Amino acid sequence: MSNEDRRSLCQRIRPWIIPIIQGIIVGVIVGAIVVIITALISIICKPPDFSISVNPVTGATNPGSVEQTMVNIGRIWYKRYKYSVTLCAETQNPAIKVTFIPEGGPTPPYNSTMKINIGSGVSEDYYIIEIEGIGGDGREHTCKYVLFVRSIPDNGEPPPAEEEEMFVGGRESDVYHYSNCRYVNMINAENIIWFTSVEDARSHGYRPCRVCRPP
Ligand SMILES: [Zn+2]
Repeated sequence: MSNEDRRSLCQRIRPWIIPIIQGIIVGVIVGAIVVIITALISIICKPPDFSISVNPVTGATNPGSVEQTMVNIGRIWYKRYKYSVTLCAETQNPAIKVTFIPEGGPTPPYNSTMKINIGSGVSEDYYIIEIEGIGGDGREHTCKYVLFVRSIPDNGEPPPAEEEEMFVGGRESDVYHYSNCRYVNMINAENIIWFTSVEDARSHGYRPCRVCRPP
């Protein structure tokens, strides 16, 4: 190809380059606008909803006593959830009775005190209490509370150290947590695994959570 030819090729291509670049830029901008509008529509069209959480998520007490914790009913960011939310709880043992004050009624956000009455015959173990909020429009959300029942000596001595430090993992992951980690609340009750020590967790192939940082 001679220099003449090369120059004439350049001259033929040049008028096309700018329109092509402009076309690409316009295409990218239009695409981005479509994506943003679609995302906004999907957020706006989502019906209002509520959330439910409990804090603290674990507690320890002895048989025949009362334990309490706070349940929070929230609304999901900017939307006003217009229905009242009623609370109920399912315990794994009929001798563990749960009451809420209030039991529900107000529209979110509100707090309710959850009182857990532990019968004197309840055996030492841990119990998962599933707290359910039912909205006036039929929406349901749940969260979990883990209750340790154990005999704490009357002389006020703390319980034995090996019972104090229990670690929690989920069947669907390989991470273990302190029992009060916020991620424990996200593990399905049926998937919870308890480890009596860090060695126990590690020997099962579990690694420490990066949020609650157990040893
Ligand atoms: Zn954790």
